[in-house]
Amino acid sequence: MPRSFLELFGVTPQAVAQAPGRVNLLGEHTDYNDGFVLPCAIPQTTRVEIAVSPDRLDHFVAEDLGQRVDCEPAGAVPPGFAAYLHGCLRLLRDGGAGIPPVLMKVDSQVPMGSGLSSSAALEVAVLRALRELFRLELDDVRVAQLAQKAEIEYAGVNCGIMDQMASSLADEHHMLFLDTRTLERRLLPLPQGAELLVLDSGVPRRLEESGYNERRRQCEEAARLLGVPALRDVQDPAQLAALPEELERRARHVVTENLRVLEAAQGVDARRFGELMNFSHRSLRDDFEVSIPPLNLLVQLLQGEQEVFGARLTGAGFGGACVALVREGRGAELGELVLARYREKGQLGTLLVPRR
Ligand code: ADP
Ligand code: MG
Repeated sequence: MPRSFLELFGVTPQAVAQAPGRVNLLGEHTDYNDGFVLPCAIPQTTRVEIAVSPDRLDHFVAEDLGQRVDCEPAGAVPPGFAAYLHGCLRLLRDGGAGIPPVLMKVDSQVPMGSGLSSSAALEVAVLRALRELFRLELDDVRVAQLAQKAEIEYAGVNCGIMDQMASSLADEHHMLFLDTRTLERRLLPLPQGAELLVLDSGVPRRLEESGYNERRRQCEEAARLLGVPALRDVQDPAQLAALPEELERRARHVVTENLRVLEAAQGVDARRFGELMNFSHRSLRDDFEVSIPPLNLLVQLLQGEQEVFGARLTGAGFGGACVALVREGRGAELGELVLARYREKGQLGTLLVPRR
């Protein structure tokens, strides 16, 4: 049975805040190449309740994990989920925000580790709760930047800025077009007559970390050989011909993916947007090689449906989720239909968006 803040801590919360998870529609593996991304918030959110602590310690409870952590505000970084909370607090305290020890309770509908960025939702919700309770002057971009810094420096995850910007700035009906180099951004409506469908492949993202690090290195190497600061600075895929074959394919994914995001951000209809998603999947599968057979199967089943405009793997790959753009009002039914066929092939997928 979930317990209330009062039951856990003996006092009522002084502030409450929420932040959503996100799904990336286009622009995969572009953020660490200074490129462009196009994520959207999802309906699932993370909620943080907060009050001032009665003693010298921070006390954190994660209801979904059934964990409680009590820690010194200036002490060692706690393990697990508490590192994210401690990191956010620590950055603000080090910046002179004068925040006393706190009580925080977290609960969430964002699935952990499915590629919907439960970590960014957690960080942004924590920072929003702190902003509210202590009346901090932080705009939404600053919140995203602090959230990213907390994840890198305290949770030890070398992430880009996309997830935190999406959680802090996007909503369910608007995609965030973001230039990850300049942080220039625009909120754009989803294509008319369309909605999102997100399915979890049921395959954990096993090789994700090593695969991700290797791709990052290859992109840096390609940029170095081409004499540009980042692959974002290459506009024409023909310029890549001088690279060794494998690096050329890796770089071609990034360069063409940036072009796809830029085209989508100009405001294309659902049909063209879907086509761009299909091209993105092909590029991730063949050039960047971060897909796996179950993801290809799920994407193929989605793409075979008449009311699906387009589909691709979303997130870093090697497992995780797929995203599709589908006819408005048809997401839930199409999702169940495709999942039934996916299960016939011996796989175990689940519907993530729309929410049941
Ligand atoms: P994701 O793709 O979901 O962001 P990550 O591995 O980046 O996956 O982040 C998941 C981690 O974030 C969890 O292991 C946990 O430490 C923390 N986290 C996310 N959501 C919660 C939550 N509701 N309660 C506690 N910790 C959470
Ligand atoms: Mg994450």
